[in-house]
Amino acid sequence: MMGKCTLGLAVSLVTLLLTVTYAEETQRRTYSHPCMGTVFYITLYSDDANASQKAVDEAFQRIEAINQAASDYLPESELSRFNRAPTNEAVHVSDDLYRLIALSLKTSELTSGAFDITAMYSVQLWRRAKRQHRAPTPEQVTHAVALTDWRALQLDEVHHTVTKTKPELMIDLGGIGKGYAAHEALLVLKQHGITTALVAGSGDLAIGDPPPAKTGWDVALRTFEKPEEKDRLLHVTLHNCGCSTSGDLHQFLELDGVRYSHIIDPKTGLGLTNHIACTVIAPDAAWSDALDTPMCVLGVEAGLKVIESQPQTSARFVMLQADGTIISTTSANFPVTEK
Ligand code: ADP
Ligand code: MG
Repeated sequence: MMGKCTLGLAVSLVTLLLTVTYAEETQRRTYSHPCMGTVFYITLYSDDANASQKAVDEAFQRIEAINQAASDYLPESELSRFNRAPTNEAVHVSDDLYRLIALSLKTSELTSGAFDITAMYSVQLWRRAKRQHRAPTPEQVTHAVALTDWRALQLDEVHHTVTKTKPELMIDLGGIGKGYAAHEALLVLKQHGITTALVAGSGDLAIGDPPPAKTGWDVALRTFEKPEEKDRLLHVTLHNCGCSTSGDLHQFLELDGVRYSHIIDPKTGLGLTNHIACTVIAPDAAWSDALDTPMCVLGVEAGLKVIESQPQTSARFVMLQADGTIISTTSANFPVTEK
């Protein structure tokens, strides 16, 4: 995931169209910082350049700290050390790692295991397959599935520990880390009194109060094969929420005519082949990022049931059909504004 991952598709699916607005002295300011294999952008409105810079520096430091805790690319990250820890040992973990794992397990429960951070072996198999342009063997896939089991992670809230109850269990937080980091960065800005802000990390947006004189931030979801067809962008006006997009309509591994996504079905250990992308809008970006990945695994029918069971949560699914056409389905409460 983080560090130097190939993220891909969400980048190509989501484009931010941020309207430039100048209130009396308030100015729109933008900042960027590379981390987690992507670039994080902060856009905020403030009348004080120095105070904004200080708040933004701290927000980016917060993202760096989360990467140090949760990256599986950094061999000395807290997560990498946890992945090397022995079975049945209660490991004391930082607040960030604890919260990321707790939210992930809640998502696994809610999605019947379609989201599973212990699918690390399968994720690694498909990362390697993409690099080598060669599919994993059935034996490798079976082995990876056997090592996947989110129920084998035990949390102890009182002692703040995580225990692996199954040998060789490993965690990958790629499906949730960027959204969590964007959300935490937005909280840092709020602590500095900057509430009119948006933090974007590739396909994950943490969105604060609306810009001056606006009802929200204009977010354009690019959903068609030809991005230049601007009239086919779908615009949503959002504030105080998270918005995350995941899927594989544009980037994929193609082997023997089959397209495999970087999203894995934890039950089969295979990269998805259903050509689906999903945008989730939820109360915060950690939650929207946790949900967008399993929505692609579950598909429209089962996915919508999960989305509709959650307060203030909505989703849009986009599917590439065999004949090359693209169709979409939204949950009833998805805030669509067609242009
Ligand atoms: P992005 O596409 O922006 O990286 P996603 O939220 O779609 O973000 O997460 C994809 C990443 O999640 C993969 O690169 C992998 O690390 C991890 N992953 C893949 N499949 C699953 C799954 N079923 N459950 C949990 N994590 C997954
Ligand atoms: Mg995700």
